Amino acid sequence: MQLFSMSAIRYFVIAGVPFIIFYKLLANWFSQSKIQNRQASRKDFIREILHSMQTTAVFAVIGYLVLFTPLKNHTLVYTDINAYPLWWIPVSLAISLVIHDTYFYWMHRLLHHKKLFRYTHLVHHQSTNPSPWTSYSFHFLEAWTEGAVLFVIVLLMPVHPLTIVLFTIIGFMINVYGHLGYEVAPRWFRHTFLFEILNTSVHHNMHHSKFKGNYGLYFRIWDRALGTEHPDYVKDYDRIQQNRFGVNTNQAIKA
Ligand SMILES: [Zn+2]
Ligand SMILES: [Zn+2]
Repeated sequence: MQLFSMSAIRYFVIAGVPFIIFYKLLANWFSQSKIQNRQASRKDFIREILHSMQTTAVFAVIGYLVLFTPLKNHTLVYTDINAYPLWWIPVSLAISLVIHDTYFYWMHRLLHHKKLFRYTHLVHHQSTNPSPWTSYSFHFLEAWTEGAVLFVIVLLMPVHPLTIVLFTIIGFMINVYGHLGYEVAPRWFRHTFLFEILNTSVHHNMHHSKFKGNYGLYFRIWDRALGTEHPDYVKDYDRIQQNRFGVNTNQAIKA
């Protein structure tokens, strides 16, 4: 129960603060950064929050099973922080995100299979114009398949509970950025190697508006390697950044 309350608070803070900033307080200020022109309705937000609470409960159960039941003895979770060098905490965190991205890509493609889609992933896709509240808006069964990545991580490598906490917080923050509905990537980002490998809010927003393509969670790597990235992605990204900055950020570098 405590785990659920903490996770629920985390959801309302990490999704709620950007929601208040981008959709209420500074909506006009950020209007140039909006990815889709239309607005999602209050009904969408309520549906998303209710499903997200269900997901939060499922994730709390999974966290409890892994950390506080005898199941822990079958995992590689370690509680003595000195059992491994301290640098292993950030390194295992980074590896967790890579494992999660790969797990998510394949699970996501599976859930898009026409036999499974309407019984599971359809709930998440009811939000064709996502907002921060969409981030945990999953069908009950999908919440389990989403959360099961934690089992994969704790079976594959030694992780400290601190790494798990950081992984869920950072993973969720990136998830909220992906569903923000606004592009906030800085102008310089387009011309770095990071743009070639990292997802943006436009990237995942296109997945919601077009249903097909852009299945990755944190990275573009699987989508690019397997040809599932939407062919208009870079063009759409450049168009939105041009709206924001008033110049073609792609041209700027060539000039
Ligand atoms: Zn999907
Ligand atoms: Zn989504």
